[in-house]
Amino acid sequence: MQMKRDYREDFPLLMQNETAYLDNAATAQRPACVIEREKAFYETENANPMRGFYPLSLAATESYEEARKTVRDFLNAAHTEEIIFTRNTTESLNLVAYSYGLTNLKPGDEIAVSIMEHHSNLLPWQMTARMTGAKLHFLECEQDGTLTEETLTKGIHEGTKLVAVAQVSNVLGCQNPIEEICKRAHEVGAVVVVDAAQSAPHMPIDVQKLEADFLAFSGHKLLGPMGIGVLYGKRELLDAMPPFLTGGEMIESVTREGAVFAELPHKFEAGTVNAAGAAGLAAAIEYIQGIGFPEIMEKEEALTRQAMEGIAKLPHVKILGSERPENHTGIVAFTIEGVHPHDVSEILSSDGIDVRAGHHCAQPLLAYLGDNVATRASFMFYNTPEEVERLIQSVASIRRRMGYGE
Ligand code: PMP
Repeated sequence: MQMKRDYREDFPLLMQNETAYLDNAATAQRPACVIEREKAFYETENANPMRGFYPLSLAATESYEEARKTVRDFLNAAHTEEIIFTRNTTESLNLVAYSYGLTNLKPGDEIAVSIMEHHSNLLPWQMTARMTGAKLHFLECEQDGTLTEETLTKGIHEGTKLVAVAQVSNVLGCQNPIEEICKRAHEVGAVVVVDAAQSAPHMPIDVQKLEADFLAFSGHKLLGPMGIGVLYGKRELLDAMPPFLTGGEMIESVTREGAVFAELPHKFEAGTVNAAGAAGLAAAIEYIQGIGFPEIMEKEEALTRQAMEGIAKLPHVKILGSERPENHTGIVAFTIEGVHPHDVSEILSSDGIDVRAGHHCAQPLLAYLGDNVATRASFMFYNTPEEVERLIQSVASIRRRMGYGE
């Protein structure tokens, strides 16, 4: 039997960093192959892509367009031009809100958003609603994150024109039934915008199977570079949409009075693109595919299970979301009675453990759950059982260190 590799060795930062890095849902670490790919772009291919007819520019263009094909296959999109490169999930979602939302929504239309949305998949829709007169409807979840049949039936109806929902919550870690939501939305003629920022790094995504209309993710959470993100959109929808940003690179021709815009995907990629970032993202995807999601998911679930079992035993500590580790996608958010998460994270930091504390850019969800703030540990396949044990031991000591008795 083939020995499983120690993937930590692939990550230069993990090799020299002494803390337990458990803030992967905020941003992941990068393997050397991603760093090397970006470096190689600048060392051997750097020129402005799509502009020059000389070899360097053609090489830059080729890397960029090859990266697009890698993303297409990663998402199983039907067409290469359905993949738009952006800066991050936030920009992808804003692109849809400004371009699709402002053009297609009108007063009285409903936009359904789940209560667990990251601010990046809420504020664009608040803006769209304000500017078009459409109304926001919140799909409220159960304490474990479940969106019930009843909630979906009540929230997705004839008046619904757009549904914006995360595939995985960045606080609860639960996975939403995207296929079912798309089915219901399409029955009433609505489109679905999927925020895949927290799912794309952890599970296979097939946009054709999901029937998602739009889907967004960030490179930096998926072991890729910062500053590169993806928007997938169905070709017929993207084709009919006006550009989001205008300027160079996205035109066929320009006159004093106007312009003819470029075809997809360039219509949505105004200005000089992040070709090095796209090449780095492709390297990250290839690295992930080399390991395979079955192994990634197995490792991450084992770490989550260990953390949840250890933390659940501690008095005065509450884990947010489902009791089942398999429904957490590597995310364990918790509260400790009487201790503010900022203090929790400072104590954990003094023990060499990096976690995130606060409202996690999901203030409506935290308010709805009645907690307002929480501490979040989030795991990646390269974390270790030793790191999780350190987390449990440190969490176990916090109330005592804050002056509480047993
Ligand atoms: N959506 C979710 C669910 C997220 O977790 C995040 C990142 N925390 C975002 C959107 C925004 O990602 P980015 O900052 O890369 O745009």
